[in-house]
Amino acid sequence: MSVLDERLRGTRFVSLAPQRVLNPPSQTGMDFWSLNPYVGCEFGCSYCYARYAHRYVVERAHRAGKLTDAELADYRGPHGWEAFERRIFVKEQILGALETDLRRLPPGQTVVIGTATDPYQPAERRFRITRAVLERLARCEGVSVGIITKSPLVARDVDVLRRLQERNALEVYVSLITVDAGLIRTLEARSPLPAVRLRGLAKLTAAGINAGLIVAPVLPGITDDLPRLEALFRAAREAGARFLHAGPLRLYPAIRERFLPLLEEHFPALAARYRAAYAGSGAAPKGYARALSRRIRRLQARFGFVVNDGMVDRYRSRLPVLQQELPLGGR
Ligand code: SF4
Repeated sequence: MSVLDERLRGTRFVSLAPQRVLNPPSQTGMDFWSLNPYVGCEFGCSYCYARYAHRYVVERAHRAGKLTDAELADYRGPHGWEAFERRIFVKEQILGALETDLRRLPPGQTVVIGTATDPYQPAERRFRITRAVLERLARCEGVSVGIITKSPLVARDVDVLRRLQERNALEVYVSLITVDAGLIRTLEARSPLPAVRLRGLAKLTAAGINAGLIVAPVLPGITDDLPRLEALFRAAREAGARFLHAGPLRLYPAIRERFLPLLEEHFPALAARYRAAYAGSGAAPKGYARALSRRIRRLQARFGFVVNDGMVDRYRSRLPVLQQELPLGGR
């Protein structure tokens, strides 16, 4: 396996040679095609649902004889979940696979970048894979492109986004669950702080990019109170957001392992309530989801956004995201 770089913190970037990069709806259970330039994400959000995709890649590589037992132990990490944040697979030479995949993309489809991992995570500063993908998509016509990110680095690519937007529909979702910086640091290990993300959003909208805010997941009892949500809506308005969508936490099995211990440590009074509320399934209890939806709709109307039920279902997979990035291999 080809190690591309290693950081002081111990994060290692490893080359991944994908045969396919556009995941069809039939594979992911989502209503659109998706693309993730990286597997793993240094931002390390406690509620991240994509850790299983990383585990899948590592275990498949081991079964295929591309990783020794010792490497498997290293790539899984002591607890499993943290390897997702410290062993980042970089889909180098993505353009060849993208070219092939674009030939089988039916006309008028939506492609969302960043459904499983952040396309503007720190690795992008160096590897510029997301930018290369956007450059290619900017040469398409009639594709609907979505981008989801927590990073202001997306504003670096305003030039490409503008070109892309000329002949395609574009929605850039800056992801932020609260404007409370202290809370962000508790819940998201290394993500950009709220003010920095909002500045990124403001740069996009000032440049005429169709960008808004996605508030996902809303965490019951932690970020769903009216004052916190109002502060988010206000900040989004001030940053020129064209839209704001929000949806509740889904507690998939892959999230529980990381998120529930954190909840017990920082919000002990809530832990038992979460365990009970999410006992039957990963979905938020129906009554809670309805109440949250009503609250969000009222806030959307009050702050002048289009009122809708949110885009979370649109951007959440009902099935594990398998990504088809195998075989794992060097250059
Ligand atoms: S930024 Fe997104 S992909 Fe990265 S850890 Fe957070 S939720 Fe997961």
